[in-house]
Amino acid sequence: SKYSKEDILRMVDEEDVGFIRLQFTDVFGTVKNIAVTAGQLEQALNNECSFDGSGIDGFVRIEEDDMYLYPDLDSFEIFPWRPQTGKVARLICDIHKCDGTPFEGDSRYILKRVIREAAKMGIYPYIAPECEFCLFPYDTDGEVMLQTQGHGSYFDVAPLDTGENVRRDIILALEDMGIDVRSSYHEHSPYQHEIDLQPVNALAAADNIVTFRMTCKTIASRHGLHATFMPKPMNDSDGCGMHLKMTLMDLEGNNILSDPADSYGLSELGYHFMAGIMAHVRGLTAVTNPLVNSYKRIVPGNEAPAYIVWSSGNRSPLISVPRTSAKDMHIELRNPDPCVNSYLAFAGIIAAGLEGIKKGLMPQAATELNIYRLSEEECEKLNLKRLPKSLSEAVEEMENDPLVMKTLGEYISGKYVRAKRREVSQYQAYVTDWETRQYLNKY
Ligand code: GLU
Ligand code: MG
Ligand code: MG
Repeated sequence: SKYSKEDILRMVDEEDVGFIRLQFTDVFGTVKNIAVTAGQLEQALNNECSFDGSGIDGFVRIEEDDMYLYPDLDSFEIFPWRPQTGKVARLICDIHKCDGTPFEGDSRYILKRVIREAAKMGIYPYIAPECEFCLFPYDTDGEVMLQTQGHGSYFDVAPLDTGENVRRDIILALEDMGIDVRSSYHEHSPYQHEIDLQPVNALAAADNIVTFRMTCKTIASRHGLHATFMPKPMNDSDGCGMHLKMTLMDLEGNNILSDPADSYGLSELGYHFMAGIMAHVRGLTAVTNPLVNSYKRIVPGNEAPAYIVWSSGNRSPLISVPRTSAKDMHIELRNPDPCVNSYLAFAGIIAAGLEGIKKGLMPQAATELNIYRLSEEECEKLNLKRLPKSLSEAVEEMENDPLVMKTLGEYISGKYVRAKRREVSQYQAYVTDWETRQYLNKY
């Protein structure tokens, strides 16, 4: 690994770090932390920092024992936005029980388990997320102002691009924290932006998403703006997705998704991996698209995918297989949104892909039709299978997919399904503006 305990103690001393935040995420992907002072750091580095998990969403107190944070030393970073004396640093942690074994409710552990399984097969997954988000102003009462009016669109520059300076500051902060950015630009809708990260191994990529969301929100608020990852924040604008460019390496770092002899440039193993994801995508959607609101993005006629098809070119397949060099060969999974618990989402997607490899699954032929332009009826006639249309349907599919349930493990899948069912039933009983507008006067 990159750092030893001594390295961290030395950096904390040399850099005048006053506080170290020990970070972890709950089952729903929300980042949590416990701050310790530099004086307590040695104890924390010896895995002796404990906390009572009963207050955390999706965790319970196991008997009467506390849980322990085991810092991942390589995740040490200093927050660039905090004061420069008495700096604040963070360590991303694994959660263990008091007997020293990993806590089944720790989603980072779930992903590590899948990565270990992949490594046993000689496979090392790499992921490059493309994160979309919106930057909205606040009104004078401090409420977020949703904006559909504005002139910025794809690849615009200032003054049309009102977020240019914020995006620059977000990227500088990300780079300061060791996250490499591939590109960034104004997205299609006004106030919508995209920042694409460089590929890293799946665990680092999941960690990066947590850091990315935190950084976006922090830097945006310093500019007086609110950053949101809500998948479909407004009716008359595009949704925010988080496409995942994925590749598989072998131990020597060769891209094993690539086969220049294939007409799509994809190896046999690549086809199996893709077929595994497609076979389980309906069971995974509750994880990759976790909110009631997520399902308002993945509807037909959008740039977000609604049908389970793959292709090399068109704008709304579930998986796109771009024509690229053998070295850069990857597949892009386009249904996930940026509200995911990145650990669980990656664990599920990779496990599904590995299952495809183990079983030698093959996908149906590519759909080179522009389904973006087809009506729902035409898609049905072509017998295209759809992603779940609601969180309710997705949760049902998840429960009926033993691979997904097994991958998340009994503890997390139980908690997840129960919480999502609650979310669905609250939503189902809630009367929306749309209903009152449609029905109140007419009936
Ligand atoms: N905003 C679209 C989505 O929700 C994606 C647009 C793009 O292709 O980047 O997935
Ligand atoms: Mg985009
Ligand atoms: Mg994309």
